[in-house]
Amino acid sequence: FQTTSSTQRYSDELRARNKESNAFIQISSNVEKLTKDERIPFGKKDLLHWQFAVKDNICTVDLPTTCASAILQDFQGPFDATVIEKMKKAGGLVLGKTNMDEFGMGSHSTYSHFGPVERKGKDEEFYSAGGSSGGSAAAYADEELCLGALGTDTGGSVRLPAAYNGVQGFKPSYGILSRWGVIPYANSLDTVGFFSPPDRSSLILDQLKGHDPKDPTSLSPYTRERIEIINDFQQWPSFKATGVLRLRIGVPTEYNVAELEPAVREAWTKTLQSFQRRGHEVVDISLPTTKLALSAYYVIAPAEASSNLAKYDGVRYGTRPDVPDGAGGLLFSQTRDEGFGDEVKRRILLGSYTLSADAIDNYFIQAQKVRRLVQQDFNRIFRQPNVLNVDDLAAGWNEEGVDVIVCPTAPTLPPLLEQVEQMEPLQAYTNDIFTVPASLAGLPAMSMPYKNEVGHGSNENIGIQIIGQFGMDELVCHVADSAY
Ligand code: GLN
Repeated sequence: FQTTSSTQRYSDELRARNKESNAFIQISSNVEKLTKDERIPFGKKDLLHWQFAVKDNICTVDLPTTCASAILQDFQGPFDATVIEKMKKAGGLVLGKTNMDEFGMGSHSTYSHFGPVERKGKDEEFYSAGGSSGGSAAAYADEELCLGALGTDTGGSVRLPAAYNGVQGFKPSYGILSRWGVIPYANSLDTVGFFSPPDRSSLILDQLKGHDPKDPTSLSPYTRERIEIINDFQQWPSFKATGVLRLRIGVPTEYNVAELEPAVREAWTKTLQSFQRRGHEVVDISLPTTKLALSAYYVIAPAEASSNLAKYDGVRYGTRPDVPDGAGGLLFSQTRDEGFGDEVKRRILLGSYTLSADAIDNYFIQAQKVRRLVQQDFNRIFRQPNVLNVDDLAAGWNEEGVDVIVCPTAPTLPPLLEQVEQMEPLQAYTNDIFTVPASLAGLPAMSMPYKNEVGHGSNENIGIQIIGQFGMDELVCHVADSAY
């Protein structure tokens, strides 16, 4: 870090820069203790002094947790989420809570009660920081603000902001990291993810993972043992034969959509060529349910959200307006009307409809079936078995299969904020086309910056996604770390 003056309060700088980007909703008093000189990047084997930012839907005992919503603007969680506990134990320091799309619903971090995240490009124009973990990604991309950040990814909310900010962002397999203390958006899809330096992702994953009895969807110690075994590259037949890790890399033909911007297609091709040059094999694969995945996601996620958000009624949770709560009173409706933003209301309506008696068969049930097909698509093409699936395990390895899939994170370059303002909701949803399939199947996926030497402030950041079989998180981190 460049230091202008060793005594210069880092907190002043952070606050000044935050005024521009609006990346943080709250800044911790921890920063008052730091001068820039004390900002030591963490050592090789631990997270000591790792100053990190936390998305504002992850509970922290010493800072409020708002989900960027008016309805939770006064909410102070009574405990640290398990991931925060683990980060602190490993020596990490929470610097603040970051801005996001309300409750995680959005792709540009503009649907926030606290105003949009604004990412200034090198051309001085303001661009989308991606969403919904846009505050975490923007804070991390600005290296003066923090050394890493936690986010959450339900349908792409770590990967898309990583792509737009030109940094690395990882969504682990569902259930590897605890969701205890993470305010749910869509429980069956929600994961905690992180933004970190490329060579640190395995270390951070190692510190954060582990069975958590407080989270009923946390993977059991038994499943974790199986995961350890399939990730042991040294024991792979191909490695044993040659002594080097030569991967089969799958390129899904269905991802080559007409809407793909030429620059993104070029980045994708160049990345694949770079893998080939290192001796990896690149093969075409087919994931026929890709197009259906997006529609299924936008049925399942709002359905779960409509159920989750029912508790914000001004009685159990939620900032309560000053209205009578007796029979015929307007307490519930007014709390929700004033507390939720438009996008959240849209999702609640959508979810309540697709779960209603008349519509459930046509929407929610169909979407669950599509989800199963998406999972089967992936299980069919990977070399490793899915450790959650007994039949798959019994069938063993599929030597014709691929080790990872490589594809773009998003079909376009980051849009200008003014373009985002003009977008119809549907247009914003289609941006998630490449990220939701891995979410529906619970797979680990990393967005890594395409190295076209454009840097953090660029308007031309492109993310390339690496997707692995369920539980192959270590492999995905390893591949991303050694990609270029
Ligand atoms: N953009 C997606 C949505 O709005 C993904 C959000 C997320 O992953 N939290 O649902």
